[in-house]
Amino acid sequence: MTEKHGTIVKVAGPLITADGMGDVQMFDVVHVSDKELIGEVIELRGDRASIQVYEETGGIGPGEPVYPTGAPLSVELGPGLIESIYDGIQRPLTKLFESAGSRITRGIAAPALDREKLWLFNPMAKVGDRVQGGDALGCVQETGAVKHIIMVPPAVSGTVTSIIGEQKARITDTVAVIDTGKGEIELSMMQKWPVRKGRPYKEKLPPNEPMITGQRVIDTFFPIAKGGVAAVPGPFGSGKTVVQHQLAKWADADIIVYIGCGERGNEMTDVLTEFPELVDPRTGLSLMKRTVLIANTSDMPVAAREASIYTGITIAEYFRDMGYKVAIMADSTSRWAEALREMSGRLEEMPGEEGYPAYLSSRLAEFYERAGQVVTLGSEGRKGAISAIGAVSPPGGDISEPVSQATLRIVKVFWGLSAKLAYARHFPAIDWLQSYSLYLDRLEPWFDNNIAEDWGACVTRAMTLLQEESELQEIVSLVGIDALSVRDRLKLETARSIREDYLHQNAFDAVDTYTSPSKQHQLLKLLLEFYDRGAAALENGAEFSRLAGLPVRERLGRYKYCAEKDHKQLAAELSGELASEIRNITDAERD
Ligand code: ADP
Repeated sequence: MTEKHGTIVKVAGPLITADGMGDVQMFDVVHVSDKELIGEVIELRGDRASIQVYEETGGIGPGEPVYPTGAPLSVELGPGLIESIYDGIQRPLTKLFESAGSRITRGIAAPALDREKLWLFNPMAKVGDRVQGGDALGCVQETGAVKHIIMVPPAVSGTVTSIIGEQKARITDTVAVIDTGKGEIELSMMQKWPVRKGRPYKEKLPPNEPMITGQRVIDTFFPIAKGGVAAVPGPFGSGKTVVQHQLAKWADADIIVYIGCGERGNEMTDVLTEFPELVDPRTGLSLMKRTVLIANTSDMPVAAREASIYTGITIAEYFRDMGYKVAIMADSTSRWAEALREMSGRLEEMPGEEGYPAYLSSRLAEFYERAGQVVTLGSEGRKGAISAIGAVSPPGGDISEPVSQATLRIVKVFWGLSAKLAYARHFPAIDWLQSYSLYLDRLEPWFDNNIAEDWGACVTRAMTLLQEESELQEIVSLVGIDALSVRDRLKLETARSIREDYLHQNAFDAVDTYTSPSKQHQLLKLLLEFYDRGAAALENGAEFSRLAGLPVRERLGRYKYCAEKDHKQLAAELSGELASEIRNITDAERD
């Protein structure tokens, strides 16, 4: 610790003011008092600094010292990240729990990455190679699911003068030496990176591939691109958490970074107990083998919550640099914004709407902008992506409030959860009339080329039926169902099937929890086939009630529960049955 230090003049909850801080920079980390609480400089006026402290400040008072560290808030990046559970400033919660029990005492420190653990390093570069930032020096099989590439840090380039062979090493051991032309530097398996600064990449690519989630309403109607950004706003109890968990479990991402910020502890506990038990369908291993968890529950210090989303996205960027597809979820960004508001209030800044600081939108944008599909640094230029999904919990479910509004201006996908649907137990309660995905058109060619050539056409037809349903329902509520033509009644029936048999998806059913795009397409096509064949039958004089009551419809409703491996065969069977049942009622009419 440096001898030179500032002096506390005021303590207000998580905010501390200190004098004698002329030498520090904005966002530098400081250690507060001899208890060494971790804080970050968030305002500088002359030699007076305002410091947000990531730990309880009770008992700390004026006159106590503040020690600069001369470095910004940074995270440690290297093998050992996966399966870790961190707080908002990357303190390893499991390690702290082992050493201090359930109440984390103040000033307690443990390195984010285990310093003693030995990792089997496999060299990929050799002596004499010219390397630049992003190039692979070697790799480590971090878990059964993740091969961790040990990269040259972004700003470094030069010639490899030595590199270790295949052997076990600690993350701080030197694995390679690079001659940069201005001297030699030793590289270990660990890098550090300041959380508030995005990691550099070569080029941002437009999103052109979907991130398949296995959730029918999402993939079919409101898809998110790999590298895309989405928000899930919804009132309490509408299923935000379940949606986030479903994405974490099923999204086709190599790495999941899950940030629980400010939610109640028991929800985070659900994640902590559930994730390790879940089997990752791609590897057959526990889901934790590709997951990093960041937990800052509502009972943990508010300032660390503010930092948690930056910590999370920095870790996500690091894995993207390896060429991975990363999905990052933040639950919930509203609690994060409240932390921002609390700190802003204590700084006595001019409040904006509803007390949130004027920079709320730009801070949110800074987070979401770090998502995206990119070509990474390095001579190979790997392709990696971060897809970011933020839950928003507007008070009372009213999305006219500032956090929802600011979020909606940034994100491209909006999965609006509706209290009414949740109350009616229609889950996921994503309101199909309000939600949107600005990626829909851009991703359609991918679905048409990779899943089925009529994918886009089916989606448009189904959505049209759903929209027509809502108009027809208005008419029905005014003048009754009898006023409708049989054709319109068929539309209502089909739309009801789409809602109940397609959109409704039970996250807790072993099969229904995930539907492959191919199975989604088969089911949607069957439901539309019912409409088409039905419409033709009505033309031929078939009775509407017999059409609505066809026995095959019940089997169509249960199609979603069939095993993935049987889905094509069953679809063909049902299609045949549908045709023959409709033929029967049409023929009966003719006879
Ligand atoms: P929120 O986070 O918005 O407060 P939750 O995600 O905790 O809401 O969801 C509330 C409840 O709704 C869940 O406990 C569950 O019973 C039900 N639910 C939500 N989504 C689904 C789903 N896809 N399938 C079945 N039940 C669901």
